[in-house]
Amino acid sequence: MSRDRRRRGGDEGPAAGTKRAEILVRVAGALGRRHDEVARLISDEAGKPMKTARVEAKRAMSTYTFSAVEARKLAGEMVPMDAAQAGEGKLAFTLRRPIGIVGAISPFNFPLNLVAHKLAPALAAGCAVVLKPASQTPLSALLLAELEEEAGLPPGWLNVVVGKASEIGDVIVDDERVKAITFTGSGPVGWKLKARAPKKRVNLELGNATPVIVAADADLEAAATKLAANAFSFAGQSCISVQRIYIESSAYRAFVDRFVPRVEALTVGDPSDEDTDVGPVIDEGARERILAWIGETKGRVLTGGTLDGELIRPTVIENPPRDDKVSCEEVFGPVCTVNEVTSLDEAFELANGTRFGLQAGIFTTRLDTALRAAQELDFGGVTVNEAPTYRSDQMPYGGVKDSGNTREGPHYAVREFTEEHLVVVELP
Ligand code: NAP
Repeated sequence: MSRDRRRRGGDEGPAAGTKRAEILVRVAGALGRRHDEVARLISDEAGKPMKTARVEAKRAMSTYTFSAVEARKLAGEMVPMDAAQAGEGKLAFTLRRPIGIVGAISPFNFPLNLVAHKLAPALAAGCAVVLKPASQTPLSALLLAELEEEAGLPPGWLNVVVGKASEIGDVIVDDERVKAITFTGSGPVGWKLKARAPKKRVNLELGNATPVIVAADADLEAAATKLAANAFSFAGQSCISVQRIYIESSAYRAFVDRFVPRVEALTVGDPSDEDTDVGPVIDEGARERILAWIGETKGRVLTGGTLDGELIRPTVIENPPRDDKVSCEEVFGPVCTVNEVTSLDEAFELANGTRFGLQAGIFTTRLDTALRAAQELDFGGVTVNEAPTYRSDQMPYGGVKDSGNTREGPHYAVREFTEEHLVVVELP
């Protein structure tokens, strides 16, 4: 294959990095120009409040912009050959080559930006993609495909297949031409896909039951404000929605007295209204499951727990036992728990005490407590004096334990979509 042919794209191989970066930058620009339309589409198809949909639409611009940077700096590394006797007289380096066709499967809750976190780094890496978006929210993904095409993506490099998960998923998993799968969604589906595809690279971004610790010395005003907003944004349907709050005894009452009124002040209503904070959950099945979990809890419901029309009111449950579903499973709804603990030791033990490990947080004014949390919380990410719901798109984002096995964020995802190719040269 000639150099020109290799650079042209289409069937001949990926376009040069500069061309891929230009496409990615153009998509970011289009997302900016069409911001209102994009945010409205997310809100309409997912029932996401406009405030939150606008944030998602802006973040997708960031995801494309960071991916463009990666397309321009994709490089291998020098190998220090003379570090070993066997390497003396040799020069060696690696090239990063695209892994091949990527199969991408995405969830309903961030129908634009979590699709962007798959498409944009894959294009930066030079990989073609077959995407299966969530059945409940395919429209934002189709819009992104349209924007990529308008930005100059050659035919064949992105293929969006909508329809039944079982059928499409099976084809993506079984087809030998698909070399890597990137999946964001629920744990049972993700781990099953990985077990079925032992020869593929299968990158999993899964759920959490997000804990946060409020130490006795914390700024309680700040903690209450941030946690009230981040336990209920998009009705708790984020993999890092605040779910379990552990508060040291001496601060417990003061925290709860600040937290509950802030939760009650959230505006529940129509997601298309720009003032709404909390809208619906994705469907009736999810609503009934969440109400059943609230009904089963042995904790005390401090606020919420009932419907406001068809919407679940933001719900705070006090001191549920650790084996309650709301304590140990992912609620994925507008529910969080407040738990009084007698010591930080107990808080760390409970925070780590589920099978999940995506992100966790701590509020404290003490450096030693913050550093202890950084070391002892067994999660992919730890936030200090910020809700663990925080994510900026260049961060390495992903979980340990049942929450996943990879890191997204363009710089990290590009590594997953490429392979190192070693070149050894005998020096004259
Ligand atoms: P889900 O039910 O697991 O669905 C995710 C995707 O997998 C959808 O596209 C779904 O298609 C597809 N799917 C379902 N069964 C499949 C199968 N047998 N083979 C292949 N594909 C299959 O998850 P969800 O309800 O959309 O999303 C919520 C979950 O995602 C939560 O657990 C949340 O924590 C997690 N999540 C994790 C992150 C992260 O970055 N760690 C981010 C967001 C969400 P259909 O829609 O057609 O069923």
